[in-house]
Amino acid sequence: MLEKVLIANRGEIALRILRACKELDIKTVAVHSKVDIDLKHVKLADESLCIGPNPSNLSYLNIPAIISAMEITNADAVHPGYGFLAENADFAEQVENSGFVFIGPTADVIRIMGDKVAAIRAMKEAGVPTVPGSDGPLGDDHELLHATAQRIGYPVIIKAAAGGGGRGMRVVESEDKLINAIAITKTEAQAAFGDGTVYMEKFLKNPRHVEVQVLSDGQGHAIHLGDRDCSLQRRHQKVLEEAPAPGIPEAARQAVFESCTNACIKIGYRGAGTFEFLYEDGHYYFIEMNTRVQVEHPVSEMITGVDIVKEQLLIASGLPLSFKQDDIIFRGHAFECRINAEDPVTFLPQPGTIKSYHAPGGNGVRVDSHIYNGYRVPPNYDSLIGKIITYGHNRDAALSRMRNALDEMMIDGIKTNIELHQNLVKDAAFKKGGVNIHYLEKKLGL
Ligand code: ADP
Repeated sequence: MLEKVLIANRGEIALRILRACKELDIKTVAVHSKVDIDLKHVKLADESLCIGPNPSNLSYLNIPAIISAMEITNADAVHPGYGFLAENADFAEQVENSGFVFIGPTADVIRIMGDKVAAIRAMKEAGVPTVPGSDGPLGDDHELLHATAQRIGYPVIIKAAAGGGGRGMRVVESEDKLINAIAITKTEAQAAFGDGTVYMEKFLKNPRHVEVQVLSDGQGHAIHLGDRDCSLQRRHQKVLEEAPAPGIPEAARQAVFESCTNACIKIGYRGAGTFEFLYEDGHYYFIEMNTRVQVEHPVSEMITGVDIVKEQLLIASGLPLSFKQDDIIFRGHAFECRINAEDPVTFLPQPGTIKSYHAPGGNGVRVDSHIYNGYRVPPNYDSLIGKIITYGHNRDAALSRMRNALDEMMIDGIKTNIELHQNLVKDAAFKKGGVNIHYLEKKLGL
């Protein structure tokens, strides 16, 4: 078993990791930027270390500082959480080359999944359903480009192989715009990601975002924890998620689950991971794999009883998976609302001091948050300050609990998006289930 884990993250996920370590009697090291000295997990960790000033590139993204902190504190392993260095293959490689354990897949697997062209190719080979597309990078032969778009059918979308965070994409409606759009996307991708490689896919008009949670031990065993629907998004950022994804025929779900676990075994995947799909008219289309724990992982935990972060720690300790697929019993339904320190109308971040805070509670209500009375939300990082997760024996029960929980949550001193969630959980189409990825922006008039 791992003995001491360094948590290379902040906020709610750092606290989440700390809790899992404590349950497994693993010692913890918190590393933090200057302003983050007051974070809850920093106070609760066995040891803590300031690794740099507030800007992320000088602290949470500072690889030498984090590896030095592991050496100084004699940690065995690093948990990267999500964001920051979680999907940085160079970081994973340097950690392992320095003799420590990276809690996640191997650097090689992270590298493949970080290159969307390579990821799609690997998934297609492994039998995962992908979006009809160019099956590789786009070259300069105009005739060939036109032929590819014709074969796929307009509209198409040009995407950067190194893209992320919803950036580096352009939809092309018709033939006359194709060549120009490819050129612009290439230039933008080069500027934004240092890699001008782009590829082409069919543009799906009204898909849902459905993703599959997997756990794989890198020793030939993989299981899935079902699916999540994360279609409620604004600017490609997820706002509210649920598990399972409602209204999808069981046979189609089971087939895609099986393709994901088979792919994990085929690529030697190690750790927790998520296969993201667009789902339209009964078909799944793989778009990317996230090689880390995700913000919305708790909804899968609620319906399976599996602690995903604890499993990550056990897998990283070299243990085989403690569950077989048949051990996983899916029960009930769960929702997650992401609570952000932001204006509910303009969505601008709202850093500041929390004057008073009261968390919701009761049966089937879970709050994952690092905030407390008097905590100052710094302006330097993501505006996520917590997540409310509710469980119910069915979708309606889980949703009524969410409605109550949102009404109970009190945060004074800063603005939050609670009001937006209160509107969403009462929305007729959302209550029915299965809205597509454009629904929220349309509702907001964007
Ligand atoms: P990123 O890594 O930037 O998040 P993704 O490939 O996951 O990029 O795509 C982000 C979002 O862009 C998707 O959730 C979806 O909203 C939209 N998108 C991507 N590919 C397509 C497609 N082929 N058709 C329609 N929408 C797409």
